[in-house]
Amino acid sequence: MASEAKRPKVGGGSERLQDFLLWCDRVGLVLNNKVFVSTEGTVADYGMLAKENIEKGEVLFTIPRSALLHQETTKVSALLSKERLSLESSSGWVPLLLALLYESTSSQSHWKPYLSLWPDFKALDHPMFWSEEERDRLLKGTGIPEAVARDLSNIQAEYRDIVLPFMIRHPELWNPSTHTLELYTQLVAFVMAYSFQEPQDDDDDEDDEEEQEKKAPNPPMMVPMADMLNHVSDHNANLEFGPDSLKMVSVRDIGKGEEVFNTYGQMANWQLLHMYGFTEPYLHNSHDTADIPLSCLYKAATRDILSESERQLFNERFEVLSQMMQEGGAFVFGKHGCLTESELHSALKLLSMSQDEFSEFKDNEGWEEEDEDDDAISQAFSNEGLPDLKASWKALIHEAVRLTLGSYGDSELESDRLLMEDKVALKGLTSRQWRALQVRFGQKRILHKLLELTK
Ligand code: SAM
Repeated sequence: MASEAKRPKVGGGSERLQDFLLWCDRVGLVLNNKVFVSTEGTVADYGMLAKENIEKGEVLFTIPRSALLHQETTKVSALLSKERLSLESSSGWVPLLLALLYESTSSQSHWKPYLSLWPDFKALDHPMFWSEEERDRLLKGTGIPEAVARDLSNIQAEYRDIVLPFMIRHPELWNPSTHTLELYTQLVAFVMAYSFQEPQDDDDDEDDEEEQEKKAPNPPMMVPMADMLNHVSDHNANLEFGPDSLKMVSVRDIGKGEEVFNTYGQMANWQLLHMYGFTEPYLHNSHDTADIPLSCLYKAATRDILSESERQLFNERFEVLSQMMQEGGAFVFGKHGCLTESELHSALKLLSMSQDEFSEFKDNEGWEEEDEDDDAISQAFSNEGLPDLKASWKALIHEAVRLTLGSYGDSELESDRLLMEDKVALKGLTSRQWRALQVRFGQKRILHKLLELTK
C-alpha cells in the first residue's frame, strides 16, 4: 500500500543516535554499561538491548530532572506560565504542545539532539493518520474510529481556539506557517505515544476518593531515553520517579541480548493501536479487552418491550443507569472475565427489578447497604462464574454480546481465524491490515467466548 511504502523508518539514523548519546552525556544522563540503544534487533526502530545479563532491581539508566522536556523546563516556560489561564483545555496538553512546537523547530533548542531522533515526526502511523475510509473498513466495531473522530475534532478545536490565537499574540516565538495544524497533529500523536505522566504524590493516598477524582492528572512530559523503550505486556523494566531524577529499573532478570521493555500501562490492543499505533500479537497481550457498549445492553433489555408506556418506564431506570456509568459507558471484558463487574452487577440488578422495587430504589436514593462482597461479585462475573449466573442475566448479557458483535463489519470469527492461520496470506497483509486484524480478532474472540459462557 502506498502509504505504508512511504512511511519513513527511523533506522539508519546512527548519526542522529550518536548525537543523542553525546547529548545524554552532556546533560548528566547515566546509562548502565550493561545496556545499549539500537535500531537492530528491537521490535520497532529504536529500542534498548541488554549487553550482559541483568539482575532484577538494577538501575538501567538515570535521567536528571533537568533533562526532561515539559512546560516548566522549556525555553518558553515563563511565557507559558504567565499565560497559563488562556492555555487551559480539556486535554491539559496545550502548554507541552506549544513547547514542542517551539523546541522542535528551533535550531538553538537544548533538546535538538533528542527531538532530531524523529525527523518531522513523520514515522508515526496512528489510525488518526489513516483515511476515514480505511479506519472504517479495517477497524469497524473496535471503538477506534469513534475515538479517533473525537480526537481529531478536539485537536482542530484546540488548535483553532487556543493555540493559533496564542501564537498570533507571540509572533517572535511562533509562526502559524511553520507551526501548522499538521505539525500540531503530529506532535499530539508524539505526545500520545512518547510522553510520560508523573504519578500523583504519595500524600494523595490520604485523600478520600472524591478528592482524588477532583484532582487534575499531572500534565504529560517528555522523558529522553525512557521513551526509547518499547512496550510489551510482559515487560521487564519500569520507570521510577524520584525527587531529583527518574530511574529505569529492571523488574526481573534480563538475559544478555534480550530487549529491555517498559510498560505503557495495562493496555488492550485497541488502546495500543489508538494511542501508540501498534498492537501486540493478540495471544501475547494479556491485557486485551473487548467492550460491550451500554447502548447494546439497552437494546438487549428493550427487545421485548412493545408498548410505549412500558418503554417510558424502562427509560427512566435506564437514565439512572447511564448516570451511574462513567462517560462513554461500556462494560469491559478481559480474557478471564468482566473487569467492570460492579457496574455490570448494578446494571443487571437495576434492569431486572420489578416496578415496585425500582420505586423503592428511587425512594432510598440507591441500594440499601449490600451484603454481597466484592470478591463474590468478581467471582460471579469471571469466566468460571458466568455460566452460573441467573438465567435472565445470562440472557441479557448474551443478547448484548450478540448485538455488539453485529457492529463489526463481519461478526463471525471464522474469516479472521482463517486469515490468522494462513501464513502466506498474513505475509501479504499491509502493516495496517495486520494491526487491525490483531485488534479485531482479539476482541471478537473475547466476545465469542462470552456468547458460549452465557448460552
Ligand atoms: N520504538 C520507538 C522509536 O523508535 O522511537 C521507541 C518507543 S516509543 C515510546 C513508542 C513507539 O514505539 C510506539 O508508538 C510504537 O510505534 C513503537 N512500539 C513500542 N512498543 C512496540 C511493540 N511492542 N511493537 C511494535 N511497536 C512498538
